[in-house]
Amino acid sequence: MEIRSLFMPLLLSVTLVACNKPPQMPQNTEQTDVSVAVAGDPAAALIEPGTDYHSFANPDEIKVTHLALDLEVDFARQILKGQASLQFVRMEEGASELVLDTRDLAIDSVTVEGKAVPYELGEKDPVLGSALTIQVPAEADVVTIDYQTSPDASGVQWLTPAQTAGKQHPFLFTQAQAIHARSFIPLQDSPQVRMTYQATIRTPQELLAVMSASNDPDTERDGEYHFNMPQPIPSYLIALAVGNLEFKSMGERTGVYAEPSVLEAAAQEFEDTEAMLMVTEKKFGHYRWDRYDLLILPPSFPFGGMENPRLSFITPTVIAGDKSLVSLIAHELAHSWSGNTVTNATWRDLWLNEGFTTYLTYRIMEMIYGEKREQMEFVLGMQSLESDIEALPEQDEVLAIDLRGRDPDEVFSDIPYEKGALFARELEQKVGREAFDRFLMQYFEHFAFQSITTDTFVQYLQDTLYKEHGDKLSWDRINQWIYEPGIPAGAPVAQSDAFARVDNARAMWLAGEIPAADIDTQDWNTHQWLYFLNNMPDELNKEQLTELDNAFSLTQVGNNEIAHSWLLMAINNWYTPAFDRLHNYLVSIGRNKLVKPLYKALSETPEGKAFAKKAFEEAKSGYHPLTVKANEDFVN
Ligand SMILES: [Zn+2]
Repeated sequence: MEIRSLFMPLLLSVTLVACNKPPQMPQNTEQTDVSVAVAGDPAAALIEPGTDYHSFANPDEIKVTHLALDLEVDFARQILKGQASLQFVRMEEGASELVLDTRDLAIDSVTVEGKAVPYELGEKDPVLGSALTIQVPAEADVVTIDYQTSPDASGVQWLTPAQTAGKQHPFLFTQAQAIHARSFIPLQDSPQVRMTYQATIRTPQELLAVMSASNDPDTERDGEYHFNMPQPIPSYLIALAVGNLEFKSMGERTGVYAEPSVLEAAAQEFEDTEAMLMVTEKKFGHYRWDRYDLLILPPSFPFGGMENPRLSFITPTVIAGDKSLVSLIAHELAHSWSGNTVTNATWRDLWLNEGFTTYLTYRIMEMIYGEKREQMEFVLGMQSLESDIEALPEQDEVLAIDLRGRDPDEVFSDIPYEKGALFARELEQKVGREAFDRFLMQYFEHFAFQSITTDTFVQYLQDTLYKEHGDKLSWDRINQWIYEPGIPAGAPVAQSDAFARVDNARAMWLAGEIPAADIDTQDWNTHQWLYFLNNMPDELNKEQLTELDNAFSLTQVGNNEIAHSWLLMAINNWYTPAFDRLHNYLVSIGRNKLVKPLYKALSETPEGKAFAKKAFEEAKSGYHPLTVKANEDFVN
């Protein structure tokens, strides 16, 4: 997922104990105990690596291996209704209880070979939902659940025609990561349970359904669609979208699905996808998922992208007209290796997915667009990481984070992404690119289609890269990266000559040595604009903002990222000529990374809060539940 900067202030009162002690340490090195803070709870237990604290399921006893779905999409009632058949194996002989995760599902019946079996739906936990415990007969290995979802399902967004690009047809999409698959399918909603799946989806006849599975671009539009996912995937990668979608091929193995009015622009913007796929598999091992297609969602999609296998879900806010924001595509594609092929076993281990994916993203960008662009993106990534670190409590700056008792959605930050990638970059610099690439290729091969913990990774690192290059690596330092807060001193530094020129121009303008209109911005790209704006002083006066706006038409700028940076400056300095645009921006975009910092900044003054509340109330029905949840506290 691409979710940069989406960290939440901690809403839950948590026991601040990070007992992230790695269980495996090489001999002859000092063990680093990195317990961060023990806030008055001496009984707080150590984290058990591999224990999924965000699932009720019991895969150690009975594990689901295959899912067969048959669902009808009911736009009028905003529900999915049908059945899920789960095939399972007993990990413990004689195990008789299958425990599943659900959230707000109405269970109609649970049967084995057509005969009802006893089940119990547990009480609802606000974060985890309700356990569904099924008594399975001794000889059974498939159970079938008839159910329907709630219109408020946390993982499903229903859009009215008005909320789509084409305005004619409704739209539906799911977003399962981190723990939302359970709100539309009863299953073992844990990333360590991998299953294959097949599905039949019934929709209004004029609409097309697509899934994170085999999609046939030439399928007849008849309201009944069949899917097959032959590779075992974790539940958070199950995804469905339904809408007035069309397909355009971009290459032999790549293409794009989108509403008709968006299709051409999307295919043009993302035309380098096939090339990205080719360079990535050359460096890091073959692509294991057959096709790689993109689905462009309506603007309310709460994230940048979601790496649903074979079909990444993508926000339309990155269609900038100049490919300046396509690192998002590189990111979602890279997840085909780190995340989808080798998966984090629990949400504590998310950095294994996101850190290596972010590292691969930089590498792909460098291979396709050159070193200069990669350097600029690295600088911007590091600035974003630094500002997260300033705002985060220490225990949340740890790669192997303690999420017990918390909603994983509420603690996403740049730590697993950029800090994880920086760690990988340091390993690369120490052992050399060639050796590190070889290590990564072997790592993806070794753990293909497995879900692993941080501790398994650490053991593997020790047995491979560290064993070969122990003279260049320090085990204490590796532990510091993974189990301690902050960035170790001496970490790789981001630098860009192209940005040095921007720094120079900004400094001259601030010193009054040159008017804004005389700054030579003719060949500036999006990254330089972002860097120019993001590094302005916190306070500018009205004359300065007016001058910038007059010189560069910033209030009217089309690029959504540049607009974001400018609008943030406008809020912080109460520059009201930009506020009509600000209002439009907030009500037309639901991508949380873009709107949340604006709501947060607005919430800091009473006038700002009133403005935010007005926009939020207008926008709310079109926002995804996750975006609503992430921002509602700023306006109330
Ligand atoms: Zn990601």
